Amino acid sequence: MSDQITQLNQLLESAGSGHVLYVYDELDAYTRQAVSFITCGIEQGHQVLFIDRQDRYDRIFRMLQDGQSDAQLDLVRYVNSLEFYRVREPFCCGMVLEQYKDLLVPLSAGGITFRLWAHAEWPENAEAPGELEMLEHLADYSVTTQGFSAVCCYNGAQMTATLQHKLLRHHAYWLTDQALVVSPLYAKDAPFFPLSAPFRMESQRTEQESAMRKKTEDQLRATQSQLESFITRNLDPVIILNQDEKVIRVNQAFERLFGWTNEEVMGLKAAVLPIIPLDRRYEVPRNKHVNMTGRNVEGYESLRYRKDGTSVNVMISSFPLLDEDDNPNGRAVIVRDITERMQAQELLIRTEKLSIAGELAAGIAHEIRNPVTAVKGFLHLLQSGGTSKQLYFDIMASEIQRIETILSELLMLAKPQAVHFQSRNIAALIRDVITLLDAQANLNNVRILTDFEDENLCLECEENQIKQVCINFIKNAIEAMPDGGELLIQLAQGEGMLHIRFVDQGGGIPEHVLARLGQPFYTTKEKGTGLGFMVSRKIIENHNGTVRVFSEERRGTTIEVSLPLESASRQ
Ligand code: ADP
Ligand code: MG
Repeated sequence: MSDQITQLNQLLESAGSGHVLYVYDELDAYTRQAVSFITCGIEQGHQVLFIDRQDRYDRIFRMLQDGQSDAQLDLVRYVNSLEFYRVREPFCCGMVLEQYKDLLVPLSAGGITFRLWAHAEWPENAEAPGELEMLEHLADYSVTTQGFSAVCCYNGAQMTATLQHKLLRHHAYWLTDQALVVSPLYAKDAPFFPLSAPFRMESQRTEQESAMRKKTEDQLRATQSQLESFITRNLDPVIILNQDEKVIRVNQAFERLFGWTNEEVMGLKAAVLPIIPLDRRYEVPRNKHVNMTGRNVEGYESLRYRKDGTSVNVMISSFPLLDEDDNPNGRAVIVRDITERMQAQELLIRTEKLSIAGELAAGIAHEIRNPVTAVKGFLHLLQSGGTSKQLYFDIMASEIQRIETILSELLMLAKPQAVHFQSRNIAALIRDVITLLDAQANLNNVRILTDFEDENLCLECEENQIKQVCINFIKNAIEAMPDGGELLIQLAQGEGMLHIRFVDQGGGIPEHVLARLGQPFYTTKEKGTGLGFMVSRKIIENHNGTVRVFSEERRGTTIEVSLPLESASRQ
């Protein structure tokens, strides 16, 4: 036994520090070790912090009194282990650690060399808490970083093999009543706790810690240079903001695109950056909020100004920059120039428009050719002096009318005509149209009925356009009833809208036709244009209204035109 005592003291003296796990079997052996540990310490003028039960310490103290002076014994600071480990409360590593800090910080701050002896305790009948392992890990950290000696004592009879195995991972040395060895498990698979040293003195930094610190610094430098090249080499403009939303720097791509130099914008608040148009400034606090709550702003389209006042279409994204504790302490904003992309999109839209116009032109030629041929034929007949001139004139007039209709329908589609919105009595307007189409209705044995809820309803509208819509739907209804029937035109008000319904008793619109309704030139009629529905819907949409189709095959179709009541009023 005396061998181990000498060995322990020699070890601690030569190493200068050490974290020792002492698992004892016999109380006598334990007492002798403790006495020797304290004696050796006070002989070197060290302060000794001694944590143990009162009864055990009383024995040890009596033995110490034999050989040490009172002045020397004053170097021993005794703390009751039952209180230190708070055995009457559930074990909590954090609480114990706090006490540990309270005791050791004043010593280390005063530059006093000290050694620690602690006999671990935990509530009776309770298993050694798992937190004990964390406590020992933290203790090991402070021992190695601060360079003092600590012996952690455990009664072997109260200790499970599992706990011993765990604790050996956090102690460099393992002492028993029989031997002192280097812990075979030390630091192997030790759980990593992201620690900040509970207390430390720069001057006491160990070689091991210096090496770790250097490694961390190297890693930090590597990360910084990666970030640096990410910013400088980025082809997209990048703005780095600090926590106060002030510009720390911008990259060359920024300078190239916007014309402002790094020096000119550095220190400016993000919200007052000259590249941001006044009406887009709201984006800055919004994006900041997203970033400061740890989230990214995914790319969205916006507009920015160059120094010369010209505008740039941009895609903005930003992400938080995190400090070492992963808290956002600034953010990076990437401002991608998408002007070219937008131009390409516009080109596409124009191309589409052109192709529609192309389709229209082909249709127009086709549509107009027939009536023109007819008119030509009749002119020829008139020249040759036929008898029933009136009939020719009538047919010619109707064919020319057809050309006119097609052209005006097309014009309406191609370009919104100069629109003059005026308040018009909608019932009167519909009656005008009915008068116009009565002849055709009679010809087809169709009776037009009206059901107007209110004769005095007025609508703020472009009269001719609304008339055209009514003509289209009434014509369609008449044409849907080749064997005659009734067309009911309703005028009603409800849910803030004005509704005009055209209810026919025709064959209905089959599913496949319904799907294509509104496509230009889609018609099922031999002489149809396939433009009426499309044009009508466009007109109604221009009036902020909607067109709905309810159709049942063999029973009929209802076309409902709804217009917002803001534009409907009473006269
Ligand atoms: P068009 O009348 O020149 O054919 P529209 O765009 O007005 O062109 O109508 C497209 C097609 O929709 C018509 O050809 C017809 O098949 C169908 N349709 C429109 N209205 C009705 C209706 N009230 N009843 C049955 N089918 C209809
Ligand atoms: Mg039609």
